[in-house]
Amino acid sequence: MKKVWNRIIVTSLFGLVIGSVFMASSEDELADIIVDQIDSVAVALAAVPEEPPVFRYGLEEDNFLIKDAKIGKNENLSIILRRFDVSHVDIDRIARKSTDVFNLRRIKQGKKYSVFYTEDSAKHVQYLVYQDNHIDYYVFDMRDTMNVYKGEKEVTVERKMVAGVINSSLYQTLADIGANVMLANEMSDMYAWTINFYKIQEGDKFKVIFEEKFVEGKSVGIGQIKSAVFEHQKREIYAIPFEQRGIPAFYDLQGNGLRRSFLMAPLKFSRISSRYSGRRFHPVQKRYKAHLGTDYAAPKGTPIMATADGTVTHAKYKKYNGNYVKIKHNSTYSTQYLHMHKIANGMKPGKRVRQGDIIGYVGSTGLATGPHVCYRFWKNGKQVDALKQNLPPSDPITDENKAAFDKVKEKIKEELDEIKYEEES
Ligand SMILES: [Zn+2]
Repeated sequence: MKKVWNRIIVTSLFGLVIGSVFMASSEDELADIIVDQIDSVAVALAAVPEEPPVFRYGLEEDNFLIKDAKIGKNENLSIILRRFDVSHVDIDRIARKSTDVFNLRRIKQGKKYSVFYTEDSAKHVQYLVYQDNHIDYYVFDMRDTMNVYKGEKEVTVERKMVAGVINSSLYQTLADIGANVMLANEMSDMYAWTINFYKIQEGDKFKVIFEEKFVEGKSVGIGQIKSAVFEHQKREIYAIPFEQRGIPAFYDLQGNGLRRSFLMAPLKFSRISSRYSGRRFHPVQKRYKAHLGTDYAAPKGTPIMATADGTVTHAKYKKYNGNYVKIKHNSTYSTQYLHMHKIANGMKPGKRVRQGDIIGYVGSTGLATGPHVCYRFWKNGKQVDALKQNLPPSDPITDENKAAFDKVKEKIKEELDEIKYEEES
């Protein structure tokens, strides 16, 4: 397009020179005018630099007509190519070329594709490009020998920082300040052990330094979180990254790991629908009864996580518990997760699980009114309130690493402290 434009400018300027010849009254005057005009041609040419060719999927756009579309309902490669009058024989050939590169049955409704064609006698398809995700695409080269190959768009990583004051939820606050809302997930992960996200309140603040990934100027996700500070109930909790024994983790200013030996809850996002109590009115049994667990309501199928490393001791169905899993973490602590819709594959007595592993999915099996997980916590063989336990932190920074940690800490704290919160209105 740009090249054509250049050509138009050059052509019209030469027209101007020729036109001047007929306007000049004497030869001298004519020479002057021509020199003037030629000068201006040179200036104009210099001012319109040649645009570099534009490539998409490695193909030079100027060489083709391009149709961009999305895969429609029940559409497949064959249907799309037939619309461009590609023969059945050629469709069959390209499909066979594709077998080792891309399974054509993976073409999904709603995904983007582009057809690069030339218009001679018929629409002549040169390439069809299927965009599998933000980064990966597949090129169906329809020219003579035919070929199918995978390409990847260039991902650029930008270092970013955001600061916000919470007025409703973390998610909403991020949306309000125009930050990527996926950060909510990352932050609740890194602070899962230290901040009870069910208790986040108005006025809590956060600053985060992180990497965001972009393809063609559009965000395709959050990269690494570099550091953060979260002010919860007037208490500032810094997250300083440090690698100890080859394991990268976040530590507070005192060098204590942000991770606890236990997660605060077995679900990521949910709400507490019933707390631990010695006595409550049971909604199904219609009588007063102790509730020796914490209920987290969540949609059916929500993954349930082991709150700490341990060994599965029970994974079965019982009349009141429904499908449940019980995990022994050490000689002091055990946890139990009730009413699962489904127990995760491979859970059986003796199975080792890591903190955060998915052990089942929220349901309402057994004695339950709606989908939730009843989370039960044992300490020294007695059921206790999980939310009231002062759980031990993970390993702190060791003495030998302290000097190195302090250096990192100072630099990062300074950087975080320089970020300003947006003026509260
Ligand atoms: Zn319960």
